[in-house]
Amino acid sequence: MLKGKTAIITGSNSGIGLGVAEELARAGADVVINSFTDRPEDHALAADIGKRHGVTARYIAADMSNGDACRALVEQAGACDILVNNAGIQFVAGIEEFPVDKWNAIIAINLSSAFHTTAVALPMMRAKGWGRVINIASAHGLTASPFKSAYVAAKHGVVGLSKVTALECAGQGITCNAICPGYVLTPLVEAQIPDQMKKHNMDRDTVIKQVMLERQPSRQFATVEQLGGTAVYLCSDAAAQVTGTTISVDGGWTAM
Ligand code: NAD
Repeated sequence: MLKGKTAIITGSNSGIGLGVAEELARAGADVVINSFTDRPEDHALAADIGKRHGVTARYIAADMSNGDACRALVEQAGACDILVNNAGIQFVAGIEEFPVDKWNAIIAINLSSAFHTTAVALPMMRAKGWGRVINIASAHGLTASPFKSAYVAAKHGVVGLSKVTALECAGQGITCNAICPGYVLTPLVEAQIPDQMKKHNMDRDTVIKQVMLERQPSRQFATVEQLGGTAVYLCSDAAAQVTGTTISVDGGWTAM
């Protein structure tokens, strides 16, 4: 379905980004994997995806906290039919105690990077009369939680940026949407489980259902494969008129 298309996925050497890259490659897209590290295993990861799906897969290191590096990533890729802005970090603290450097890093990586990559990718998409910009926001792009000021502000910003991008590209064969995941079982989340089990003196299943998934009515994590499948849908012809909106993959979180 996506043969001949090039997809750039920021922050894709683990978690949701990797799941999205995997599913886009499975659908036939050539993929550019990215993170800020430049290790042999990063390049090996891309090579493995390329081999398994019979597509071209490259790894390009670029730090998404740096606007020039964001722009250089897209330029270096040389083509961009599908742009998935996924790189993101989290930090939790009350507003009065929130470290300024953490605020700046979250806004830069979770929000501003999408502005920079989109700015370079849109002319490439316009030249072909086809494009997909998919921003990985969050349930926190639609609702808030205490102690996550920077993350919630950035993710609401990503939803707003997605709407503006959609309007500026309307009728040009280019769509832009934000996917809003609830809790997804990524290595990052998996690593929190033992601590939560100890803290609440609960077994794995109970801590997942009663503590971690308290706001997710399904009491089930979303998976990276489901997020990847949602991205593939947004790249399909069926989604050609889906633009400027949010798609929640959150087990009912935002219905509450
Ligand atoms: P993760 O930590 O597994 O992945 C984050 C990715 O971003 C990694 O590949 C990491 O290397 C990369 N990254 C971090 N800083 C970077 C930088 N400066 N430059 C380039 N790459 C950088 O986390 P994840 O859970 O897969 O999160 C991916 C996205 O999904 C984030 O935007 C996150 O906010 C969003 N999200 C996650 C969940 C969840 O429950 N896991 C829920 C909602 C939204």
